Amino acid sequence: MEFEPVICFEVHAELNTRSKLFCACPNAIAQGPNKHICPVCTGQPGVLPVLNKRAVELCIKTGLALNCKINPKARFARKNYFYPDLPKGYQISQYEEPLCEDGTLMVHLRDQELIPVGIKRVHLEEDAGKLVYPSKGIEEAPYTLVDFNRAGVPLIEIVSDHQRDPITSLELAKAYLENIRQLLRYIGVSHCQMELGQMRADVNISLRPKGSKGFGNRVEIKNMSSFRFILEAISYEMKRQEELLRQGQEILQETRLFDEARKITIPMRSKEDAPDYRYFPEPDLVPLDLSERDIQRIREEIPELPWSKAQRFMDQYGLSREEAMVITKEKGVSDYFEACALKFMDKRRLYTWITKELFRIVPREEITPEGCAFPPEFMVDLISLLESKRLTEGLAREVMERSLGGSLSPSKIVELEGIEIMDEKEGLMEVVKKVLVQNPEAVQKVKMGQVNTLNFLVGQVMKETKGKADPKVIRDLLMKEI
Ligand SMILES: [Zn+2]
Repeated sequence: MEFEPVICFEVHAELNTRSKLFCACPNAIAQGPNKHICPVCTGQPGVLPVLNKRAVELCIKTGLALNCKINPKARFARKNYFYPDLPKGYQISQYEEPLCEDGTLMVHLRDQELIPVGIKRVHLEEDAGKLVYPSKGIEEAPYTLVDFNRAGVPLIEIVSDHQRDPITSLELAKAYLENIRQLLRYIGVSHCQMELGQMRADVNISLRPKGSKGFGNRVEIKNMSSFRFILEAISYEMKRQEELLRQGQEILQETRLFDEARKITIPMRSKEDAPDYRYFPEPDLVPLDLSERDIQRIREEIPELPWSKAQRFMDQYGLSREEAMVITKEKGVSDYFEACALKFMDKRRLYTWITKELFRIVPREEITPEGCAFPPEFMVDLISLLESKRLTEGLAREVMERSLGGSLSPSKIVELEGIEIMDEKEGLMEVVKKVLVQNPEAVQKVKMGQVNTLNFLVGQVMKETKGKADPKVIRDLLMKEI
């Protein structure tokens, strides 16, 4: 018998808002612990929450991008549990009436195949604070510190559906997480920087015989914030559960933790003592009352999504599928490409200069039409210089690095510094002759028909001229002389 996994994700993402969900404290990286706190987000007696409108809009925006139904009368609920990082003793979340339900994400598997994954719900909630242990682990620490900067930061929780179009392979699980992250970044809902904990996931996983529609007992793995660990944990759980099932044993329904060092999951708590959260409607917040117009306005904020943009780039600019996928991975990069593309015929050259040269010197997250240290006008200018053969690739690279972050355009730098291609008139022939005299053996080989050796000679001339000459011209001159 062959088994297949049924994988369900609860993805948490911190929203890009200026302030926290229920108070005016900044939602930003703080200079030190407990800097962004107030009586509301530290749960002092007598305070009342005031809902952040932008957070509601961003949650709806996510729901719309995931093809969910939006509940105009959504309400908040109290999730009660005791933990020292939760100052009120409860978390304001959503339970029975979440903002968004019943969506679908078309996941791009291997950038080609489209597989639907059901989205059960997307809801809004507040984050908890952070416990800080002075030594390595919770067990050895003599005391614990608490930092409430994160308490009250708005989160969305995206729950995939284990019944309707579930995730049934490790490969699809990976593609799903990548697509969710790309989508949230594209629509400007979250930065999703995993290393800052801005995106985290809980995973539910069970096995069933392949082809069956039933469900086995599921195991939950909590709070992971790296794609690699999430996939390692799923992969380990698949093997562990399959072994037990093959031995005729039952899978215990329980919560497990992933031990990152040993790459195994270990039991945390069983179903018997699973917490009872005693959910009830939040009495301090009235239910929402959204109009069709409010929702329409948010729908209009959603930009072209990466997958349709990739298709359009293929049709409009003649990029291959692979190239279109690379250039549309980050919204800023795709906007940058488009800001330049309208000016050139040769889109492939532009693609190469962005992915090979710009990616080398500017971090991808910093590439946007407005914010890039090498703005689109400079790129257009530089490629024009290449196209009109006023620069070699080597010189262009040098000019690019020199204009990076400055106000001088590539043309201006070329003009001011007198940079120009070395050609016959500029003494290139002398260099060619010198190289030929220095390498008699290579010349002999080329005469015998060893074409590869010619490339070596081209390289020697390039070195002598410090990349100032066009390799094609050098090649022609060498051939003429030999
Ligand atoms: Zn606050």
